[in-house]
Amino acid sequence: MQRRTFLQSILPAAAAVRQLTAQPGLPWGGPVLDTHLHLRPDADACFTHIQGSGVTRAVLLTAAADEDRAKAEMERRPGRFARSVRADPALPGSGRVLRDALRGGAVSIGELKFHLALDSPEMRRVYDIAAEMQVPVMMHIQTFPHFAGELPYSTGYPQFDKMLRAHPRTNFIGHGDLFWAHISADVPTDRGYPAGPIRPGGLTDRWLSDFPNLYADMSANSGNNALSRDTDFTRGFIGRHTGKLIFGSDCSCTDGKGGGISQNNNPEASRLAGKCVARETLGLLQRLTSPEVFRRITWENGIRLFKLPA
Ligand SMILES: [Zn+2]
Ligand SMILES: [Zn+2]
Repeated sequence: MQRRTFLQSILPAAAAVRQLTAQPGLPWGGPVLDTHLHLRPDADACFTHIQGSGVTRAVLLTAAADEDRAKAEMERRPGRFARSVRADPALPGSGRVLRDALRGGAVSIGELKFHLALDSPEMRRVYDIAAEMQVPVMMHIQTFPHFAGELPYSTGYPQFDKMLRAHPRTNFIGHGDLFWAHISADVPTDRGYPAGPIRPGGLTDRWLSDFPNLYADMSANSGNNALSRDTDFTRGFIGRHTGKLIFGSDCSCTDGKGGGISQNNNPEASRLAGKCVARETLGLLQRLTSPEVFRRITWENGIRLFKLPA
């Protein structure tokens, strides 16, 4: 092979590798999409967080009533944000509110954090809207209280496979304490964030394999804790579900570096106090994955599922 021909044949591959390993100005080596950033009351505060944590773009989780505020953030920083919509499925007219926002540019439904059963008629109406409008729906699944008197959200997870089967055209994104506790086959009932070795065969692990319409949002202490507690297990888990894992932070720190109050002062999540969840989980993923897998989980999977321009 002539030198010129040889160089021509290896150059594209070399360029692709370079692109994956180091893109100048991108702290994580490539673009990162945070699919779980709550819209903040102060103008440009979400931008401060993505800049500080090295995130390129974020989905602003937005209550229907705050839609105009989310649009203002998007206009202020073109190309950096998309927005979701949420409305209480039990309120009359919520279906129309969701459809209107989705027709107006919202890219997903969520997060749904309500005191409803996952198989309730109210939630199932939302799953139908997600299928009809071809957007994913994300649920916060938590039964153990963070604070005294806190009621459970999205109950009935052990039977959720019935919903995954009954709504095959709906793309579900699981998130929250109980969703991630079920990464293991044994789930203690006296805490929200189990520690220590994972027993293989957990519901979440099995369903991610069995159902093409289930995805996992790795945000918050729930995602970070589950992926940190047994990293030998996590390597296999990421390998099994590379196309189903979606990076998100759910971080409430002010500056993307751990300032202010992280994890809303949730006492059980104190392991992340003073830390930025986005940085912690991105660092963990970087240690556990190859650059190719890191890019899929932190960018490509979310771009595809939320149908964002690449
Ligand atoms: Zn949540
Ligand atoms: Zn943060």
